[in-house]
Amino acid sequence: MPDWMMALVRERIMPSERHRNASLAPGPPLDHRANRFLAALEAEDFAVLEPDLENMILPRGTVLYEPGDPIRFTCFPHDAIVSLVDVMEDGRLAEVALFGREGLLGLLSAFVSREAFGRYVVQIPGSVSRVPLDTMHAAIQASPKLQRQVLAYNEALLAQAYHTVACNALHPVEARCCRWILSTHDRQDGDTLPLTHEFLAEMLGVQRSTVSAVLRGLQIAGLIEQYRGGIAVVDRTGLERGACECYRKIRYRFEKLLPGTYAEADRSDSQSSHAVSPAAAASKPRR
Ligand SMILES: [Zn+2]
Repeated sequence: MPDWMMALVRERIMPSERHRNASLAPGPPLDHRANRFLAALEAEDFAVLEPDLENMILPRGTVLYEPGDPIRFTCFPHDAIVSLVDVMEDGRLAEVALFGREGLLGLLSAFVSREAFGRYVVQIPGSVSRVPLDTMHAAIQASPKLQRQVLAYNEALLAQAYHTVACNALHPVEARCCRWILSTHDRQDGDTLPLTHEFLAEMLGVQRSTVSAVLRGLQIAGLIEQYRGGIAVVDRTGLERGACECYRKIRYRFEKLLPGTYAEADRSDSQSSHAVSPAAAASKPRR
């Protein structure tokens, strides 16, 4: 591909709104335990981290790390959602993992090389807590309980990446889109998700026009509503039916390894009062 075409591709997939980590300022004081990994820590482990924790507000599109960047902080999202994407030489992307309030980022690849695997980019804007990597390492070494919780999270994260790779290779875009919406919904309190067609297209590795068509189908089926700058989940049960098995597999691993830190156990029930009408079911996109 000629250079001018590469530049066009990069411009399409790297919107100018993107910010780099270095330009971010600390945010106002917030409760660090809005992150459920931190909330689940033993009091003495949290007390070790707390003096060095600081809040950051992350705008959409913030790139925390590019591939190969040195990792200096471990971040604990509150309502922000961050994706780890692999970046190809031609600029194309594929999402490998998603990070929200259930966990942390900037630790798995930070034990030996201390270099980012891929690009960590903010999909849903919001707040995070962060702690210097050295503080995190020292706390892990000092506490077997924290060590075990980190290992459990790393295992869940590995399972997420494992299933995501297979999902990207084998499952249709409609099912993957339902999985992505559900995974994002799990990490938010409300039913509205401020995500753009452009970012969703990047995460699913498809054209924006494909995402628009898929979302239109989901809206016609009564599963979501679209609004300017985002979507609202209307029928969670319908989305779960439309998603591939990978959503359930990934969620099962998180709930087994980190009980209480993933979505509330009753979220599906409380959000599933809308049955799919026969007409809506008939117009549901084919998987
Ligand atoms: Zn799948």
